[in-house]
Amino acid sequence: MNDYYATLGVAKGASAEDIKLAYRRASRAHHPDIVGHTPAAEEEFKRINAAFEVLSDPKKRELYDLGVDPLAPGGGAAGGAGANPFGGFSASFAGFGDVFEAMFNAAAGGSAGQAGPLSRSSRGRDQLERISIELKEAVFGVAKEITYSTYLTCGGCGGSCCAPGTAPQTCSACRGRGVRERLVRSLLGTVRTMDPCRQCQGFGNIIASPCPECSGQGRVRGLTSVEVQIPAGVDSGNRLRMTGRGEAGPAGGPPADLYIEFKVKRHPDFVRDGDDLVATLPIPMTAAALGAAIVVETLDGPREVGIRPGSQPGAVITLEGLGVGRLNQKTRGDLLVHLDVQVPTDLDDSQRELLRRLALERHEERPEARLASTGGVFSRLKDKLTGR
Ligand SMILES: [Zn+2]
Ligand SMILES: [Zn+2]
Repeated sequence: MNDYYATLGVAKGASAEDIKLAYRRASRAHHPDIVGHTPAAEEEFKRINAAFEVLSDPKKRELYDLGVDPLAPGGGAAGGAGANPFGGFSASFAGFGDVFEAMFNAAAGGSAGQAGPLSRSSRGRDQLERISIELKEAVFGVAKEITYSTYLTCGGCGGSCCAPGTAPQTCSACRGRGVRERLVRSLLGTVRTMDPCRQCQGFGNIIASPCPECSGQGRVRGLTSVEVQIPAGVDSGNRLRMTGRGEAGPAGGPPADLYIEFKVKRHPDFVRDGDDLVATLPIPMTAAALGAAIVVETLDGPREVGIRPGSQPGAVITLEGLGVGRLNQKTRGDLLVHLDVQVPTDLDDSQRELLRRLALERHEERPEARLASTGGVFSRLKDKLTGR
């Protein structure tokens, strides 16, 4: 049986302030960082924290004073503190129902420890909305209006739950306290337990004329919209939190947060690779050999790609700063253009003759070459583009 008062070295009637001071003193004096990390020191430090956890919480302290250790595993009925000088053994026979009831009440809203009634209002729940955006919107950022379904504070009653012109009535059964007291005789002696008032469900008041618009819930399901500034650089799976844009709480409770999760759609021409964009540019064999300047359409509009003479298939040309905006930065990634050198398949007679003369000139009419095992840049490029 833990004697929490003794652990902190305070009297049973000690004030909250005394308990706080005693805890500070004890935890400083026994901190393992100060006295060394021995098992005994760790144990003692744990005991001090447990004592403070129980005695600093009015609900737990009241339960403890009734003879129930709120920290005992399995909801167990540990022996009482000073007031009940029974051993833990005999105490465990004490009316289990009462002990459990007392603990349950404590867990179910603190009516065992607090005389106050439960509040009808609570914070709403957080909400997640998923939206799809274009790649271009992810690259540059965009402002979007999003419409979604959620709980909204009832316009009819403003969250009070009462029909216009009416107000909640104080519960006559508990006189507004929300709890009813019972005295139960047990082996521990007479134990005072608090039950939630059945007439008002512990709220202490009764809504006699519920608001017809929300059936007395104080909130209604409805559509609302919000303007979202989507920053440049968002990627699929990123979430943006919009504080206070989630569900309104019941009975005028504060609204929760809205999370917006993005999915970036595929683009027919560009693949995203982190902050970079990747694209393939098919060019004629002759342009690769002779060099060329080709104007292509990028997400920033037309841009010239300079192809050096003798460019190889799979060569990458970097267009700096034409990639994806970096989240929360002013900079952008690059656009990587992979050259796809196209070999003509539709030669006419005179073109075939021209190529044959070229081959002759370059002594390539009977090329000599060896097989090699390397995959080459092009197969790697394909793997990258298909995400394998
Ligand atoms: Zn209403
Ligand atoms: Zn009541």
